[in-house]
Formats: sequence, C-alpha cells, structure tokens
Amino acid sequence: LSVQRNDEDLDYGPTVIVEHHPEDGPVFATLYGHLDGEVLDRLVPGAAIAAGDLIGRFGERTENGGWPPHLHFQVYLDRFGDSGNLAGVASPARRAVWTAVSPDPAVLLGLDSCAAREPSSEELLRERRAHFCSSMSISYARPIQMVKGRGTTLFDAEGRAFLDAVNNVPHVGHCHPRVVAAGRRQMALLNTNTRYLGEALVRYAEKLRAKLPDHLEVIYFVSSGSEANEVALRLASAATDGATDMLVQEHGYHGHTGNTVSRSHYKFAGKGGFSAPSDVHVVPLADPTRGIHRGPDSGQKYVAEVQAALDRLAAEGKRPRGILAEAIIGCGGQVVPPNGYLKGAFDAVRAAGGVAIADEVQVGFGRVGTHFWAFEEQGARPDIVTMGKPIGNGHPMAAVATTARIAEQFAGGMEFFATFGGNNVSAAIGEAVLDVIDDEGLMENARRVGAHFFERMAPIAKRFPFIADVRGRGLYLGVDLVEDKESLAPDRAAAQYVAGRMRDKGILISTDGPHENVLKIKPPIIFTLAEMDRLVSALEEIFGESPFQQS
Ligand code: PMP
Repeated sequence: LSVQRNDEDLDYGPTVIVEHHPEDGPVFATLYGHLDGEVLDRLVPGAAIAAGDLIGRFGERTENGGWPPHLHFQVYLDRFGDSGNLAGVASPARRAVWTAVSPDPAVLLGLDSCAAREPSSEELLRERRAHFCSSMSISYARPIQMVKGRGTTLFDAEGRAFLDAVNNVPHVGHCHPRVVAAGRRQMALLNTNTRYLGEALVRYAEKLRAKLPDHLEVIYFVSSGSEANEVALRLASAATDGATDMLVQEHGYHGHTGNTVSRSHYKFAGKGGFSAPSDVHVVPLADPTRGIHRGPDSGQKYVAEVQAALDRLAAEGKRPRGILAEAIIGCGGQVVPPNGYLKGAFDAVRAAGGVAIADEVQVGFGRVGTHFWAFEEQGARPDIVTMGKPIGNGHPMAAVATTARIAEQFAGGMEFFATFGGNNVSAAIGEAVLDVIDDEGLMENARRVGAHFFERMAPIAKRFPFIADVRGRGLYLGVDLVEDKESLAPDRAAAQYVAGRMRDKGILISTDGPHENVLKIKPPIIFTLAEMDRLVSALEEIFGESPFQQS
C-alpha cells in the first residue's frame, strides 16, 4: 500500500496505490484518487491490507455529510515493479513516457481498450465549426478546452490551471459548493413553475428585494439578461401609456433578442449591424477619458446631452418611454461615467415622463464593492432594475424589479408567465448565491481587492507611457492602452498581445471597448489579494516585454 499526496495544481487530491497479489494471477496495482482524508490518515504506507478492508471513500464530503457516488479509480500495469512511484496524473508532455511505462491494462480487465482519448481541441473546433454558426465567437486563436472549474480556477483538458479574471458570471466562484448543493438538492426534490405556491421562491424574492432600494417592490423572474430587458421595455411602455421612444447609451449592450439588440448601440452600430428603429435615440457615451466631454466634472455636460435628446422628442410632441442604461458601460470599455451623470440622466428622463431602467446584468450583486448595485454607487434612482449573469452563478436565471405602481400599470389583464422564470431550482440557487455573498463578505472583498488593484497599478501606469487610463469599480476593471497618451490613439494590437501573453502565463482576461484596446478584468468576486498580486505582476512583466519597448 502506498499513499501519495499530490501537490500539483491538478486538484486530484491524495491517491492510494494498492498492490494486489492474487493467488492465481500476476501482481497488479490499482490506484485510487479523490479520497476521503479521514480514512487516508489511518492508512500506513507499506501496510498489508486484506480483501474487503476500507481504504478510502471517493469524493468530497457533501454539505449534509454524505458522500457523492462519483469519481474514479485507475488500474495500472507496472512493467518495472515500481509500485508507489506511479503518476496518478501526468502532464501532456510526459504522456508518452508514462504510457510506455504503464501500458493499457485492458488485457487484465478483459476490455477492448482503456486508452484515454487524446484530448483534441482541433477536432472539437472542427466539429463545432460544422454544426454552429460562424458568428459564434471563441476566445483565443488557440481555443481552450475547459473541463472543470473551481473557485477562481479553470482547468483545461490537459490539466492546466488558469486563474480566471474574466468570467463574472460565476460570481461567487466556479461551482461554489453551497450553490451546487442547493441546486442539486432542489433538482432531486421538485422543479415546477410559479403557478404553484412555493415558500422558497417567496423567501428568495424577499431576500432579493431587501438588497434593492425600498421603492422597488415587485420582482419578475425570467431566464436571461435579454429577457429581463425585454420585460423592462414592456414595463416602461405600460408605465408611459404605450410610448415607444427609448434613449439608449452609445456602446451600450442589453441583449440578443429583437427588442434588446435594436436597443444595443454596441450591436446595431457595430460589425454586421443595422440601422436602429427610428424610436431609438442614442445618447453619447459619458466617457470622461475619451468622450465628447472630458474630465471628472463633465457629468452635467453629458446630462445636458440627455436633456437635448428629450427636448427633441418634446418638440415633436412625443413622450419618452424611458432610458436604458448600464451604470458602468462594459462593452464600451469599462467606462465609469463622471460624477452626477447617471443620477442626472435618470432624473431628467423621469421629469420628461419617461422611465429609468438600470441594466445591472453585468455589474450588480456587490461587484462594485462599496454598494450592492452599481447605480447606487452613482446615487441614481432607477424605476426598473434588470439583473442576470451573476444572479445564479452560472445557472440561467434573471430578474426584473420595479415599483408597485409600474407593476400595477403593467398588470392590465394579461397573464405574466415565463415557463422557467422563478422555478424551484432557480429560486434555491439564487438564494444560495445571495447567502454566499453575505456570509463570505464578498462585497467587501470586491472593494478591498479592487482597491489593491488600483494601488498596485498606480506606479505601473506612471511608468509605462502606453497606459492611458486605469478605471473601474470594485472588481469591474479596465486598463486603456494607447499608442500615444496625447492623442489617445487606441492600441488594439497591444491589448491583444497582453491578453494572449496573460493566457500564456495562465491568467484569463479579455479585451473590449469600441476600439478593443481596453483590458477587461472582472473575476469572480472571491478573487483574493494574492491572486490580484499575481495578475498585476504578470501585467507588469508583460508591459516590460519587447513589443512595448519598440513602440
Ligand atoms: N445586459 C448587459 C449589460 C449584458 O452585459 C448582457 C450580456 N452580456 C445582457 C444584458 C444580456 O444578457 P443575456 O446574454 O443573459 O441575455
């Protein structure tokens, strides 16, 4: 018997190798992974064990103390009698050596073959291209085949660990055990819809409401951010006697469905776009760095742009339906509007008879650190808030909150029913996400780790002339790269280079903005100070590499 502890970052846990001495056959070894530590601690390497002895349990203990019936054992053929020195897991580079040392044990088991299929990303990509539309994008020129996620780490098919600083949907960490347990438990119990009474859904709605400003009393549950914005648009219409004219932000994004894509300037004015319907009015991106008005005090100038759009409508005798706005514009390049903008814009629209919709699909749920919602951080008062992405930590769910008055105006006789919205499993998962955010102090973590990013980036931004701006709130961050600080000419190639090199270093970030020159950093909000240090140090090293020094 031998017990190995695997310290590599492959996350396979300790392993046990048992050497079998059958009376009527060759000696062989079996190898067990993912075992229970308590049992392992009682095992002494080298000890003899009898048939039937407990050598371990598979898997980790579940929340309620049980054992999940999963995971694996491995059977080894060991040509050199070298038991106790076998690779439970080998890196791809060592695969050929290990398969030579330990040939296919199919002979022993009477199977055709146990040879693991070589993970082939090329093959997957080919099949994907054959069956999916060409406009479905994939990250990186050499795409990554992800097979497992845990916390802030993603593992690819070759066992490589990546620090995830780009996926904000797994808000409280990939596969958070409490969220997984809540979903698994509820899935095994009941999953129906909102036409039945359910205590969990009511309790969850209460908890969600408690996070929102008091005036937002009514919640609608749906399944995606796009769907949430569709409902918000319908609510706004109901609240304005059927008005249709909508103000939207330059470079804003609100979804892929008919009504949302045509209210997403980022899409309709972008590649493969179309002209927006005549009742969609784009207000300038309130970007204090490279927008039409600049500087920290430009907020009121951008509010005046909103007012001008409202005045134009008024001159035509039209009432606005409302404004649809992200508090921090993600696709626009992590743009934080100047002080007073969002509040002023929302108030102006309301004063003109329209409805203010805050799209918190990206930035809600404590990500900005100081406040649970990004609109709160800007002192704005929305009439409707839409939520998605992080709300279910990856489970497809979304929600809309509004005032009792608007909900009443919308009610108007027609049933509101979304098949999956507010189903029992979503309610359980949504509640678990809120509980984890609170119990683990994750909003405060986002604040602290985000502040650390700015602290560490300040001297770096001074040192490298191609960094025009370091911006964001909490763990929703951006670094604006330029060819030249004076002209602010965006440097898309530099941003691509940095994102690619970060991947080489095992860290995932992305690029965005109208010129794709902004490094986008939006990790799960459990991201630690040490992980942020690793990320910033990697950025700093890359900024010092030759492509930058030549430019
Ligand atoms: N609003 C914003 C701000 C978003 O970022 C997104 C998704 N990127 C959506 C809405 C649409 O959400 P979904 O993809 O879940 O429909």
